[in-house]
Amino acid sequence: MNRALKIGILEGDDIGLEVVPETIKVMRAAARKADLAIDWFPMPIGRKALDELGYTLPPGTLEKLDTLDGWVLGPIGHQAYPRDRPNAINPHPILRKHYDLFANIRPAKSLPGLPALYKDVDLIMVRENNEGFPPDRNVHMGNGEFRPTPDMTISIRLITRQGSSKIARAAFELARTRPRRKVTAVHKNTVFKLGCGMFAEECRKVAQGYPDIAFDEVMVDTFGMKLVMRPQQFDVIVTTNTFGDILSDVAAGLVGGLGLAPGLSAGPERAMAQATHGSAPDIAGKNIANPYAMIMSGQMLLAWLGHKHAEEKAVTAAQLVERAMEKVIREGKTLTPDLGGSASTVAMGDAVAAEV
Ligand code: ATP
Repeated sequence: MNRALKIGILEGDDIGLEVVPETIKVMRAAARKADLAIDWFPMPIGRKALDELGYTLPPGTLEKLDTLDGWVLGPIGHQAYPRDRPNAINPHPILRKHYDLFANIRPAKSLPGLPALYKDVDLIMVRENNEGFPPDRNVHMGNGEFRPTPDMTISIRLITRQGSSKIARAAFELARTRPRRKVTAVHKNTVFKLGCGMFAEECRKVAQGYPDIAFDEVMVDTFGMKLVMRPQQFDVIVTTNTFGDILSDVAAGLVGGLGLAPGLSAGPERAMAQATHGSAPDIAGKNIANPYAMIMSGQMLLAWLGHKHAEEKAVTAAQLVERAMEKVIREGKTLTPDLGGSASTVAMGDAVAAEV
């Protein structure tokens, strides 16, 4: 690649204002070390943008993002946005849909040196991100949850062949980059014969094109049990939206909690680093939020951009972040309170950047 990568910085709300700056600090350090050129574009979003500019997603944001390769999005605390302000919308679904960020990739990995339920988990949940049950993702206009009578609610789920096929392909491609080369499709086609049935059919079709990758299918309820009892058996897991949302939080719990759960929302052209956790208003402004999940989401973005643009330096930068973070965790001297330490968000970010 003979130009600088272009990465946006969208801090989000609450602890986003604390963990995103640490993420950028670490990514900058890694880029410097790897001799990777990055142009950074800070952009207002969320509550701060509403207060300063009158919009949670200011006009011109999408036009600007169109010119970037990817961005870091901090958690969005839209539940706290004022209901009486029409411009106080949740920006996240708009970004996700506009850029077809259909693959939500959420790794769960045990880290040496940290207390966790399991010491040897290394799995990745590949969750379909633009269809499924969430009412903002299954209709073009309106809402996919409705109440025909005061005592009856209908929630609908959208599953398409194309969406299922795309997410399955993303999972198999990812499995090819990992030593165990295994994909598990999680669904319940015994009950949801049409919806999960279609998802399963598409996964099987895609699997035929990847004879080098082991493939199996597990019913979602059985999978829940297996995940809790022996998570080590899983490598890459592909599943529909809501199953993936729930199961990835369970997986985070197995290896130490939400503070350790990074994520990437990837589409055909662009990707968005986005931790699994929310904006955690209960701990915001105290400089105690764990920056791990957001920093490692930035790390995933670097790796994704490296592969997408065949840019070795970005892959190297991602490796530098990963190794530095592992060292800081292993040494255990600079950990935030949720990990049993007493370090601040900034101190942990500093430690990882220094290690890079
Ligand atoms: P959302 O629905 O937006 O995903 P949520 O309901 O899952 O949000 P979070 O904001 O993720 O809620 O917070 C859940 C709990 O996890 C809270 O107690 C919060 O303080 C804690 N938590 C979340 N992120 C972190 C973090 N980075 N460091 C430490 N604790 C965190």
